[in-house]
Amino acid sequence: MKTNKLLQVSTLNALMMGDYYGAKTVEEILKETDTGIGTFDGLNGEAIFYKGKAYNGQATGKVIEMHKEDKVPFSCTAKFDYKVEALPVTFDSIEQFKKDLEAHLPSKNYFYMIVMDGKFNVRVRSCFKQEEPYEPLYKVACDQREFEYHDVEGVVVGIYSPNYVEGMNLPGWHIHFLSKDFKLGGHILNVSSNNALVKINKLDTWEVLMPENKNFAKWNLKEDLKEKTEAVEGNSKK
Ligand SMILES: [Zn+2]
Repeated sequence: MKTNKLLQVSTLNALMMGDYYGAKTVEEILKETDTGIGTFDGLNGEAIFYKGKAYNGQATGKVIEMHKEDKVPFSCTAKFDYKVEALPVTFDSIEQFKKDLEAHLPSKNYFYMIVMDGKFNVRVRSCFKQEEPYEPLYKVACDQREFEYHDVEGVVVGIYSPNYVEGMNLPGWHIHFLSKDFKLGGHILNVSSNNALVKINKLDTWEVLMPENKNFAKWNLKEDLKEKTEAVEGNSKK
């Protein structure tokens, strides 16, 4: 059976509650998939998996390529089919991006991975590495930097998750940016473009790799963190 799989490391609630322990390695993730998003051990930066490599958009404003032994506490990746048709899109805000892209989704009840090439105005954020004992993400979200770039060529990599996965993943869009020269990147807070081409892959299988650590083992991971999650994943400080 041919499947198009979302490979997910851990759950969003575990990350939100402060489980930043690297659970799987870059090598394990890239063995099965090549494209997606996530973060690194200790919440150290924003992960962009692109064409089989792992990049880290760090809170310093720089991007580094990660090594195969580096660890990942949370990620969403897929083996992306880059041969699908690229659709031209223009949008002047992240809200319009979401609306326009959703019009291209045949159903909102599946996961989708997207790769969008183009020239962007983009506001990104990235988190600093946390020290143990780890605080919940909704408390440390202020420990981050934001950067704004104009007319920069690059790629937006991201995932759309259906609304019924609340707690397991982030319903709706979660998108990261990587510049074409691999120097700039991060978690997207706002974006616009009048020159972008998007490729969309529908995913029909969902595989979750559960972390082996004491926090994941004992916490109540069903806690309703909806409001706190939205505050962390969407909002800019400004
Ligand atoms: Zn992110």
